[in-house]
Amino acid sequence: MKRIAAYKVLPLMSNKMNKRDIYAEFTGKTKFESYELEDEYDKKTDRICNKCNITKTRHDFQNNTCGDKPFGSDLLRYKRGECKECQHKESLGKSEAMKIAKTMGLDTKAPKGTECELCKKTKGIVFDHCHQSKLFRGWLCDPCNRSIGVLGDSSESVARVFNYLNKFEKKKFSFTEECIIVSNDC
Ligand SMILES: [Zn+2]
Ligand SMILES: [Zn+2]
Repeated sequence: MKRIAAYKVLPLMSNKMNKRDIYAEFTGKTKFESYELEDEYDKKTDRICNKCNITKTRHDFQNNTCGDKPFGSDLLRYKRGECKECQHKESLGKSEAMKIAKTMGLDTKAPKGTECELCKKTKGIVFDHCHQSKLFRGWLCDPCNRSIGVLGDSSESVARVFNYLNKFEKKKFSFTEECIIVSNDC
């Protein structure tokens, strides 16, 4: 019972918690005692952006959480993979894509019950767009959407992953002009 209660309370608290409160909340599980000390460390520590591949400092990356956890196994704040600059460009791109979708009469919020086109889950569905054309691609759950980004955000990059896996799986797939037939869903 105690664990359930803690689980319910934490997400609500973390939204309201300011940076300093998180350090108090996780006393003993943080490398630094305060936000200020970690911030100083961040300014002096290199980190490479997974989007632009430029070496920046940890300070150039927004804090993140993994589930409800703000600190990783290194006892430092989780950081986003892309730098703040890339994150900013990405959010501008997304709002542009949403504007285009609106002018085309498309929804920019997933209608209730919408399934992720990849995993069929209905939780946390987001607007997915093509980063080149800024056109709406479809509805995906947040993890699937992020995964596509990590894999390179193109059919070519995902095909490389596909070939890599199939070197071992050696499955037979059929191909049409437009798609790889995985099951009957294509
Ligand atoms: Zn970047
Ligand atoms: Zn999904």
